[in-house]
Amino acid sequence: MDKRDRDLIRALPKVELHVHLEGSIQPTTLLKLAKRNGVDLGFHTEAQMRLRYQFRDIDHFMRLYEEMTFALRQPEDFRLIAYEYGITASAQGIRYAEVTFTADTHFRLKGIPFDEMIDAVWQGAAAAAADTGIRLRFVIDHIRGLAVEACFRTAEWCIAGRDRGVVALGMSGREAGFPASLYGEAIVWAQAHGVPFVPHAGEVTESGDIWDVLQFKPARIGHGIRAAGDTRLITFLSEHGITLDICPSSNLLLGNVPREEIHPIRQLWEAGVPVTINTDDPPMFSTSLVDEYALCAAQYSFSIEELAGISIQGVRSSLLNADDRVALEHTFRGELAQMGIEAKVGGV
Ligand SMILES: [Zn+2]
Repeated sequence: MDKRDRDLIRALPKVELHVHLEGSIQPTTLLKLAKRNGVDLGFHTEAQMRLRYQFRDIDHFMRLYEEMTFALRQPEDFRLIAYEYGITASAQGIRYAEVTFTADTHFRLKGIPFDEMIDAVWQGAAAAAADTGIRLRFVIDHIRGLAVEACFRTAEWCIAGRDRGVVALGMSGREAGFPASLYGEAIVWAQAHGVPFVPHAGEVTESGDIWDVLQFKPARIGHGIRAAGDTRLITFLSEHGITLDICPSSNLLLGNVPREEIHPIRQLWEAGVPVTINTDDPPMFSTSLVDEYALCAAQYSFSIEELAGISIQGVRSSLLNADDRVALEHTFRGELAQMGIEAKVGGV
């Protein structure tokens, strides 16, 4: 890919729907916060940190991820990481993002009250919006593997946080042995209070995990790449317009798509499944949204028109209210027209 194509990708107006706040922390910021809070992460330089982030598999990744979050202590820390994500994302051409925040990790391991954290990240989002115009919203996720009560706690926070940018209940963590249906009561309870459900599913295990979350009518699904081997499921996702928020580098680096295999994003898109392109945890996978779009162009033959269409799909699949979604799509289409790009939405 030449520089001109990359510049074009950078200039494309984009949304990001699958990115983790804690996983978006810049290495320099993480080291600075650890030092300020007197937390020993076991590494003191960026080089040492990179050596440590040689993930063996998803369990290893999750252990490192949890360790890393110990650096966050003060409200200012949470404000700062939300602000920095907003600034970095804006430089990638991202205008709107739904950022997953695992509040329960900080509550459980460090006793930080939810209100303190959500106030802080919402302030960070407001500061980033004031500086760049980017809009950030938050998905508060429950970690599979924890007790049902923890899911109720997170669901309650989602309801309470709606006045501070919270738009959905997420679900991440270990798929094997912990299907979303284990937490069904809490999911349904949150939905009854108007909180949409946006789980990770079908990232690691088989398509059965995706079928399991579908009973809760999720607004979107994080990853969902295991759908690729299940033609009945592909048809279902396509016919019901259920979006998969796909993170190619994350899948490759964690071995969820083996190196020798082709990532199924193109196959799913061609089959008419709505997909979006995302980073998951950008510095941890040494990536950015521009990199992910460029990867999809270079490795999976997406044209600039098709990438623009995926970007429009992101707007349509977002949890903005209907008026805001229409307005944002209108803005995107206006910008694309000025760039001379006609978005091709959908693979069929
Ligand atoms: Zn994720």
